Amino acid sequence: EPLIGVLALQGDVREHIALLERAGARAVPVRRPAELAGVDGLVLPGGESTTMSRLLETFELLEPVRERIAGGMPAYGSCAGMILLARQVLDGRPDQRQLDGLDVVVRRNAFGRQVDSFEADLDFAGLDGGPVHAVFIRAPWVEKAADGVEILAHTAAAGDQAARIVAIRQGPVLATAFHPELTGDERVHRLFVKMVHETK
Ligand code: GLN
Repeated sequence: EPLIGVLALQGDVREHIALLERAGARAVPVRRPAELAGVDGLVLPGGESTTMSRLLETFELLEPVRERIAGGMPAYGSCAGMILLARQVLDGRPDQRQLDGLDVVVRRNAFGRQVDSFEADLDFAGLDGGPVHAVFIRAPWVEKAADGVEILAHTAAAGDQAARIVAIRQGPVLATAFHPELTGDERVHRLFVKMVHETK
């Protein structure tokens, strides 16, 4: 049975561990390179991407995580995790570092110009059981995605707000701008556990 790590430098780590376990995986917090080396997949939680970027450097995990991802380790990022996984971030801090797991450009705090947080029911490609109730908290959106990036969900257009890409997958890397770990809907985590099984 694969072991899934949750990057535990900052953010909503416990919620991810609980949902991964409900989704049938073994899950452990990851704070050191040796712990990273023992996992088959990694979740990057919601929180604050600029802080996590800084802590990744302090804990000497930035390069090891980048290398594992470049080597094909499955990864799933929610919100701040999506920002970290992207190749490029708009409206980030100048010293914010990227993990390059997704060939996308994300805009940080993108919805925040209209509203800090909101909830929406989204159709999510490939998930059975109806729409996903998505909680967005100072969330990013995907502004540009390369060919080969699958769009799994977007928000509905409303008024002068266009539809925005908020869930994607590129090979073994999955990301959502929202937080399934906060609503207890385990379907996104089940999808990720399946991706880890398929890679192992
Ligand atoms: N705005 C945060 C960031 O820039 C993300 C917020 C979240 O993870 N809920 O990382």
